[in-house]
Amino acid sequence: MDETVGWKANFMHDVLVIGGGIAGLTAARDLAHGGYRVLLLEARDRLGGRTWWKRFADSGHHAEMGGAWFDEGTQHNIAREIERYSLPTVLSPAGQDFRVSLGGRSLARPDQPVPPDVRPDLDKALDHIVDQSRRVTFGSDLDSPDLHDLDIPFTELIEPYADQPLVAEYLSMWAAFAFGCDPAAVSALQVLTWVAGYDNTCWTLDDAPATKFAKGTASLVEALAEDGGADIGLSAPVASIVDAGDHVVGKTTGGETLKARFALLATPVNTWEDIELPIPAGSLKRRFAGEGLAGRAVKLHALVDNVPEYLMASGWGGPLCWVSEQADFDGGRLLVGIGSDDSAIDGTDAAQVQQAIRQFAPEATVRKCDSHNWSTDPYAKGTWTTYRPGQLARYYSDFSVPHRRLYFAGSDLARGWAGFMDGAIESGAETAAALGRRLREDG
Ligand SMILES: Cc1cc2nc3c(=O)[nH]c(=O)nc-3n(C[C@H](O)[C@H](O)[C@H](O)COP(=O)(O)OP(=O)(O)OC[C@H]3O[C@@H](n4cnc5c(N)ncnc54)[C@H](O)[C@@H]3O)c2cc1C
Repeated sequence: MDETVGWKANFMHDVLVIGGGIAGLTAARDLAHGGYRVLLLEARDRLGGRTWWKRFADSGHHAEMGGAWFDEGTQHNIAREIERYSLPTVLSPAGQDFRVSLGGRSLARPDQPVPPDVRPDLDKALDHIVDQSRRVTFGSDLDSPDLHDLDIPFTELIEPYADQPLVAEYLSMWAAFAFGCDPAAVSALQVLTWVAGYDNTCWTLDDAPATKFAKGTASLVEALAEDGGADIGLSAPVASIVDAGDHVVGKTTGGETLKARFALLATPVNTWEDIELPIPAGSLKRRFAGEGLAGRAVKLHALVDNVPEYLMASGWGGPLCWVSEQADFDGGRLLVGIGSDDSAIDGTDAAQVQQAIRQFAPEATVRKCDSHNWSTDPYAKGTWTTYRPGQLARYYSDFSVPHRRLYFAGSDLARGWAGFMDGAIESGAETAAALGRRLREDG
């Protein structure tokens, strides 16, 4: 990787990639391997985008501020890259002390998600969710008219089962945790896609993929950036892309002008409106960007005393839906917490974080904490991909469609594991393959 040479020179690259997250880096790597001259411009002073392996407070430990976990058994794109670069992985510690907080109280039987008398109602709701997920073919045709009746708020899908408040709360907690938003803001079809992707099971109900990179997501980001030889410019926000007929011209906010035969936009959908793009008003992409995606999660890390070993907690009614231990050091326990509304808690404020964790562990005292607000971050404007009701029906078929010399990639546009790092790799690789074909035709 060369962060300075090449991109300031008056030089016609084959492809200008905008955005140095996992999708942009994957695309840049594949195109460079195809023999094309690639320039990648990244707005921030670091690569990785919505993944960020950051030192925790002033400790010698790191924490994943964004994307962290994956499941190699079902997420084949990330599994391929892990094998390719021999990246070491590690499991998050398994929970040992399970706690569930619903209906304003900790439930007496933490080994069960809901009390035994409510379990049959929960099972009926889960059976319905699994049955409906069987209508979905993971990774394709999510805009099929046959599925339009599922592209509704998740709360509508579970409404027939919501008479039992604990069932409603438990399922709301699940959607809020998994999609980082109010459960009414996510399309039931996206929820069902995940259920379908996990072999039509609800195992992520109060758990999640637990494998992570032993040396952080930075190990994947560095491997991608160093492979292939693309030119990379950091701290170079792109302000506009102009279609000049037989090439494109990109301009950074700093005034640099870059020329390339094609451009590949790999920035979050929620940031598209901030870049002047050569796509018509009223087009599907413009409408998609105008509506934006719904994810506004909070993910925080806290070094905590007076909590049980290997806490794994989930619940509803407070700012955090899920809390679990990731490590222990200096006599404290490093917990990670996820909530669905980043305006409900400041994850850098120890007092607020302590209060939130006390929903699950009443004696907890927070020593240090850290979090990154991705929604106010101008280069993310949200967390992971969460489609609003109706968006899959309206936009899915357009995700991979280029506009003249402008191609699009990103986890937000993945056919399969949208919202995961796997989806970013899928989309980056597939867009690079499509653009490679076009470059060959273009001569
Ligand atoms: C809190 C959180 C938790 C998550 N947890 C998980 C998880 O456990 N597992 C998982 O698999 N995924 C998780 N994700 C999702 C995962 O991180 C993303 O899906 C993935 O990293 C997105 O990659 P991307 O390349 O599509 O987009 P991004 O990573 O957003 O990359 C886009 C890049 O474009 C840059 N950019 C934006 N505007 C401009 C501009 N004008 N000019 C130049 N560059 C620009 C950005 O700075 C960024 O680097 C999580 C995300 C968040 C935020």
